[in-house]
Amino acid sequence: MAASTSPEQPGKYLRQDGLLRQDKVSRSEVIIVGVGGLGTAAAAYLALAGVRKITLVDRDIVEFHNLNRQLLFTEKDVNRPKAEAAAEALRRMNPDVEAVAIVEDAEALGDQIGTDCILDCTDNIKTKLLLNRIAVGKEIPLVVGAAVGWQGSVATIIPGEYCLSCFLGKKMTDDEPDPLSCEGVGIVGPVAGALGCIQAAEALKIVSGQVFRQLATTIAEGKTVVDGVTYYDFLEGKSWFVKVKKEPDCPVCGTKNPAGKGKK
Ligand SMILES: [Zn+2]
Repeated sequence: MAASTSPEQPGKYLRQDGLLRQDKVSRSEVIIVGVGGLGTAAAAYLALAGVRKITLVDRDIVEFHNLNRQLLFTEKDVNRPKAEAAAEALRRMNPDVEAVAIVEDAEALGDQIGTDCILDCTDNIKTKLLLNRIAVGKEIPLVVGAAVGWQGSVATIIPGEYCLSCFLGKKMTDDEPDPLSCEGVGIVGPVAGALGCIQAAEALKIVSGQVFRQLATTIAEGKTVVDGVTYYDFLEGKSWFVKVKKEPDCPVCGTKNPAGKGKK
């Protein structure tokens, strides 16, 4: 087992031990959907942190125009499946990690999915709403990231709390034009990397049990933590938080929907 006190690798995780539960991190599993600018950055830091198993889901191949930001790839990886090239890179970074590649769309995850946390690092609303439905139905925490141009956002969705459809579902449907595609607007490399790192930090809090503890504490104090979306504008150097309410009639998590399981 990987730990900061391992006799084979003394002190490997020493600098983060005490800040999070390394014993839990070293037993944890995460699934990263979308192995692009967000996903490669998130995967790299979760691998370095000693997450036991990282499953990478992406059907695309590496292209030259990915290389300004997708830091697990080199020019030698062009035309290789992203998930496979990234899994190899993670194994080189930290042999403690079991890195699994799934060269498929998110739909391939199906109902068999089992993990401690899902990271949505995709760039399209349709997949985000699909992952939201899976996460709510299976009661798996979901960390949603998005980045385009100089801007991005992160939302951490905890079972029983609000879900992505509570604030996105009414405005967006699967068929509408996708505002997150970076094909037209482009994406600045470090913006994607920074958002991926924030997602990795959120995932580490989840797998080490700190989000739930933090939530319980803050509820007792009448404050909120994981109840909204944080937006970042790197061109302006600003970030801001927008609170999101759980909607009783949400088609995914609402009390009127079976997947919501009557939670408030
Ligand atoms: Zn909802």
